[in-house]
This record gives sequence, structure tokens and C-alpha cells, in this order.
Amino acid sequence: MRVVPVPCLQDNYAYLVVASGGEAAIVDASEAAPVRATLARERVRAVAIWSTHHHFDHVGGNEELARELGLEVVAHVSDRERVPAFGRGVDTGDLLRLGDVEARCIHIPGHTLGAVAYFVDAPGQRCVFTGDTLFCAGCGRLFEGTAAQMHASLGRLAALPGDTRVFCGHEYTASNLRFAAHVEPSNADVARAIDRAARLRSEGLPTVGTTLDEERRVNPFLRIGSPELRTTLRIAPDADEVAAFAVVRASKDRFR
Ligand SMILES: [Zn+2]
Repeated sequence: MRVVPVPCLQDNYAYLVVASGGEAAIVDASEAAPVRATLARERVRAVAIWSTHHHFDHVGGNEELARELGLEVVAHVSDRERVPAFGRGVDTGDLLRLGDVEARCIHIPGHTLGAVAYFVDAPGQRCVFTGDTLFCAGCGRLFEGTAAQMHASLGRLAALPGDTRVFCGHEYTASNLRFAAHVEPSNADVARAIDRAARLRSEGLPTVGTTLDEERRVNPFLRIGSPELRTTLRIAPDADEVAAFAVVRASKDRFR
């Protein structure tokens, strides 16, 4: 199994998940052309589109690619009316088979109500496709769900094995890490992550594919209990996790 990031639009990522027999799933077909070019370059055969949520910058290529290549479009069961070319509805615990690869679906409402993650538990190369819910060093905005829903969804993702690599929907890592450094100025892991991201971007490479262990060390939305974060954002030490999460999310919305 391998994962091929496909830069799309301004700062989106589609991904190809490629099984060892050459069958590929397209995660988030943002637009058709770059995905089509990558399928040709990698000499793989797409069999499905796995959509993480209904936003246009994640499904803009669904109709065209599904029609052209005869693909089944998978999305959360509640998004039948909102995901173009919707073919198969899934929910938490459903399994998707792709050659020798198996992906488990996890419903993660918050950014949208029908957001879903795809967790691939291949030995030695676990990965999860999180759309706009868990970003590298950040999380998505609350467009449809509540802080409680998003907090629970992030908890579901953070409970996956620590070596799971995170492939998210946007290249937002550098700006997310600026916020992380703002709320935890003495976090040395954040400083190292900033250097790493700057180096990768200067070489034109994606920063995605961090591990959940790394995310737990740097991502403010997984570090709601951090005393330094709470001091910076004036969150009471005994404030509950959901209330604290809501403050961190609102602070990030305002952060420039
Ligand atoms: Zn979105």
C-alpha cells in the first residue's frame, strides 16, 4: 500500500491510496485534471472515490471522474443529497475493500455533519484521511457541528494508534503551527515542527503525513489540557475539555 498526495486547487490535497495490485481509491477528488494526470503517471487503476465531506473543494471532480472511469463514490450515509455522484453511504465501523487494503470508516461530525475519516490499518503503514477535521497541527472550522461534536470527533481520531500518519485536506500546516507557537511558546516540539514544515515547503514538498504521536505533541486542539495553552488563552485550569476546546477554536478563528 502507498499513498500519493495530489495537490489540487490552491492548497487542497486529493490522495491516491494504492493497493499492491495497482487498484487505487481517490480520497477527495477536488478536481478532475490533476487526479487524472496522477493516475496516468503512477500507472494505477482507480476503482473508487472516498469523499471525506461535501464541500466543493473536496468533491469538485466527483461527477467527471466517476462518469469517465466508472467509479463508486463513497461518502457518509447522511450526505446522499450533498456529495455529487454519491453511490454508497457509510458510517462508523463500515469497511471498504481495495485490493489487499482495508479501510475503516469513522464518522467525525463537526466541520460538517457528514464528515467521515478513512483509516487504513496496513501493517507498518497505518494512515488516516481526515479531510477538514484533523489538520496537521490544527483542526477545521465548525461550519455545521458543535464544539462538543468536533471535540469528540478529534478524540476518536486521536485514539487511533500513535504511528498512524495523518493525511488531511489542506496544506495549512505552517499557519497552524504559528498559532500553536502562540498558545504554547515554550513547546520545543512546535519549534521543531515549524523548522520541518519550512524546509519541506521550501523544497515544494507536502507537510502532510505526520503521525498521531507528533500531533499529540504539537496540535493545540489535541492539547486542550496544556497549562501553558490555558494560561495564554485565559482558560480556567478547571474548565472542562469541551468549553476549553471552544475557546481554542474561537481564538484560532480570530488569529492572524
Ligand atoms: Zn471543508
